[in-house]
Amino acid sequence: MQKKESLTATRPNWADLWTGTGPSPQSSTDSPTNSDLPLSHREIRVRPPVNLLASPRFVALDVQHNVPLAPRTSLELGGPARYLVEAADEATVIEALRWADDRQLRVLVLGGGSNVLIGDEGWDGLAIHLGLRGLESHTSPQGVRLRVAAAEPWDDVVATAAAEGWAGIECLSGIPGSTGATPIQNVGAYGQEVADVIAAVHVWDRRAGCRRVLLPDACGFGYRDSVFKRDPTAAVVLAVELLLQPGGAPTLRYGELARAMQSSGATTVAQTREHVLGLRRRKSMVIDPEDPNRRSAGSFFTNAVVDTTVAEALVATAMQQGLVDDAAAVPRYALDDGQVKIPAAWLIEAAGFRKGERRGAVGISSRHALALVHHGGGRTRDLVAFAQEIRDRVQQRFGIELRPEPVFAGVTLR
Ligand SMILES: Cc1cc2nc3c(=O)[nH]c(=O)nc-3n(C[C@H](O)[C@H](O)[C@H](O)COP(=O)(O)OP(=O)(O)OC[C@H]3O[C@@H](n4cnc5c(N)ncnc54)[C@H](O)[C@@H]3O)c2cc1C
Repeated sequence: MQKKESLTATRPNWADLWTGTGPSPQSSTDSPTNSDLPLSHREIRVRPPVNLLASPRFVALDVQHNVPLAPRTSLELGGPARYLVEAADEATVIEALRWADDRQLRVLVLGGGSNVLIGDEGWDGLAIHLGLRGLESHTSPQGVRLRVAAAEPWDDVVATAAAEGWAGIECLSGIPGSTGATPIQNVGAYGQEVADVIAAVHVWDRRAGCRRVLLPDACGFGYRDSVFKRDPTAAVVLAVELLLQPGGAPTLRYGELARAMQSSGATTVAQTREHVLGLRRRKSMVIDPEDPNRRSAGSFFTNAVVDTTVAEALVATAMQQGLVDDAAAVPRYALDDGQVKIPAAWLIEAAGFRKGERRGAVGISSRHALALVHHGGGRTRDLVAFAQEIRDRVQQRFGIELRPEPVFAGVTLR
């Protein structure tokens, strides 16, 4: 069963969108109709255009049986999918969804597999591996608008933008996986989130059985969260539209990145990308076949977001336990809504876990306390048991519950 993140009352959920109690989605056209989002003027074809919807009636589905999923995930863990369809166009996606609905099968949409943990028993339903490709760019008075099909590798999009000098996603360099997955958990890193530049998300609405274009307000974006993550059965993302700024300044909100840029005299978007990649490599946060930490899902837990009272209690506990000499040594960041963000990596190390620590075939990355890694020959249950051990000890020591970041399919955390 897919793991659902808890609902946040202030954000819309999928049902709200279609019953009219939440922000209204755009109608099922190919492009948003908002007058502030024109698609016009100059068009640069960077790669073949995004696939257009074909009639689903004439699609011959090739349904594969009992297909191993581990090689399709960055953790390389988990059992097979009972059924799998390779969907290279929208018509195949739609037909595959119908095929599963007719048989009352659960559906797992798979992009690059870099943020998913598959159970050892596998996925007892249909997995749809997306292969929709294409990228178009248009300039407008608001900036450059990129329309990217779901299966385009995200980092290729960032590389294109950096090479063109289009600002807005340079800090999101090196994140593996597909573009269609970026709105799912509102990917973020080094001071940017994809929600900052998303102009529209094109989806197939599974319940209504039609294509929709959602503007950002309808996506319910939060920290590693969205309406899509809260209700994974509701929609398949077909394409994402981004609004970037040609010649814009890079975002340098993240201290470590800003310092690295300053000390090397770097100022451009392209240089920012190189610096981000360098910082990420040092933490094994880019997938490198030679890296012993390569089998991971990136951060296994999200950073903790807590009330000020919980943060103050944490500081008091850390001082009592002799973990820090003064309050300032407990890293914490005030958020706009009054809550406080505490780095999960700090909590894990403060709870006594070490980088490189192992439990058989799984362990903590030797370069980043937040990444759990699989060293080969392991099972999902080993990783889940270690994740539970970490979560339980952090909870016992600091009263803060860590939440997993990857999506669980066919497995749950106790
Ligand atoms: C080394 C490493 C570093 C990482 N660093 C970061 C980071 O800095 N910041 C960050 O936010 N994440 C990071 N991640 C996590 C991951 O790369 C991102 O979440 C990425 O967007 C996942 O893309 P994917 O195509 O691999 O998704 P998948 O793993 O295939 O899928 C993830 C979830 O999204 C759903 N999904 C995927 N595509 C679609 C679609 N088109 N429509 C509907 N649902 C869909 C799946 O069903 C699943 O629930 C990292 C992962 C790794 C391995």
